[in-house]
Amino acid sequence: MEIYRHPVFDMACQQFELVADRLHMPVADRAWLKAPKRALVVAVPVRMDDGSTQVFSGFRVQHHLTLGPTKGGVRYHPDVQLGEVAALAMWMSWKCALTGLPYGGAKGGVAVDPRKLSRGELERVTRRYTQELIGFIGPQLDIPAPDMGTNEQTMAWMMDTYSVHAGHSVPGVVTGKPVGIGGSLGRREATGRGVAYLAGRAMDTLGLEAANATAVIQGYGNVGAVAAQSLVRQGLKIIAVSDVNGAIFNPRGLDMRALDSWVTERRTVVGFPEAEPIPGEAMLILPCDVLVPAALERQITAANAGKLRCRIVAEGANGPTTPEADAILNERGDVLVIPDILCNAGGVVVSYFEWVQDLQSFFWSEGEVMDKLFRILEGSFVQTLALSRKENISMRLAALTLGIKRVWEAKQMRGLFP
Ligand code: NAD
Repeated sequence: MEIYRHPVFDMACQQFELVADRLHMPVADRAWLKAPKRALVVAVPVRMDDGSTQVFSGFRVQHHLTLGPTKGGVRYHPDVQLGEVAALAMWMSWKCALTGLPYGGAKGGVAVDPRKLSRGELERVTRRYTQELIGFIGPQLDIPAPDMGTNEQTMAWMMDTYSVHAGHSVPGVVTGKPVGIGGSLGRREATGRGVAYLAGRAMDTLGLEAANATAVIQGYGNVGAVAAQSLVRQGLKIIAVSDVNGAIFNPRGLDMRALDSWVTERRTVVGFPEAEPIPGEAMLILPCDVLVPAALERQITAANAGKLRCRIVAEGANGPTTPEADAILNERGDVLVIPDILCNAGGVVVSYFEWVQDLQSFFWSEGEVMDKLFRILEGSFVQTLALSRKENISMRLAALTLGIKRVWEAKQMRGLFP
């Protein structure tokens, strides 16, 4: 496990150990469940537009194979490392088990800043990375999807590269593709809509009225922007949003239509005229009802957890809250955290629907997709809330307990091999 050493992997392991203690899991079983099944590290040499060659590092980690093929996103970010990818793969395992999907967790990534590459360079990075993964991915083996820094176009290039190698179209090798080549209606919006749906359920639980509620969104990307739009449709006001370039604030509520046009044109929220700039750290501790971290890991820490002034943290991102911050929030008892493996599960649930549709070459309406999505999220939310209340534990501990227990039981049924 030494090769996975990384603050985010340590964090995933700490969370796991808390649950293992509660379940009185024997030490030998802990290693069996925790250790990623396999990992691939590849060099991705790419011809740049100026004629030079750059070599990027690429990763793919498959956490366990007990319940079916593995599933998980591909991240393009300059700080991507093996240990971070392994932690994200482990969380995917618990997330898929919590929502009842027939998958183990996986994750991949390339250490690259996609904003600094031309479209041609990005395409060559993606195709070469995919080429290096041939044999390691496939519709019955491991099915990538978009994550931070990747999108439908990335998935289209991955699917095409894999298909060229196979000699025929293999749409089921990735999810989050454009609808025109086997993608699912509703996939792009699924994670953000799921976040908003679950934030709404948490507000019901606390007796908060959407019409009087406010939200703050960290990370105005795929997940954050769709969550914001969906929360507005529920009646909330979005008072602050941020991206990698900075944060903006308007206590009267941002005009989301105008903001979307601004972001489409300038590719950042910064400079939006109907708001004032605010430091990112100050934005996180604004008084609001719902705080949606939808960017990176480890944003809510021991340093700011005591200062949060929200009622609900809806974790759009993976791993935004450190275990130290969790302990502080549990102690406070006045902030309901909807944990990442539940809150952002909408993405992988609709990815599962996309995979099923691709395997059957039979496609569903958007209404059908959304209806099935919300039914699964509702079931997972109700089970998590019930366990959290019954055992008087946090929603995170409850969700992780449900997910980890299911994988543990499946491993006991099957044996050591997968
Ligand atoms: P994205 O690349 O579309 O958007 C990420 C956003 O975060 C961008 O606006 C970026 O500028 C912003 N950002 C980056 N660093 C920041 C910082 N330090 N402060 C504030 N903003 C910052 O990515 P995404 O797909 O929306 O993913 C966001 C998070 O959601 C990730 O943690 C990802 O793992 C998680 N997630 C995504 C999906 C999905 O379906 N895309 C599913 C589940 C979980």
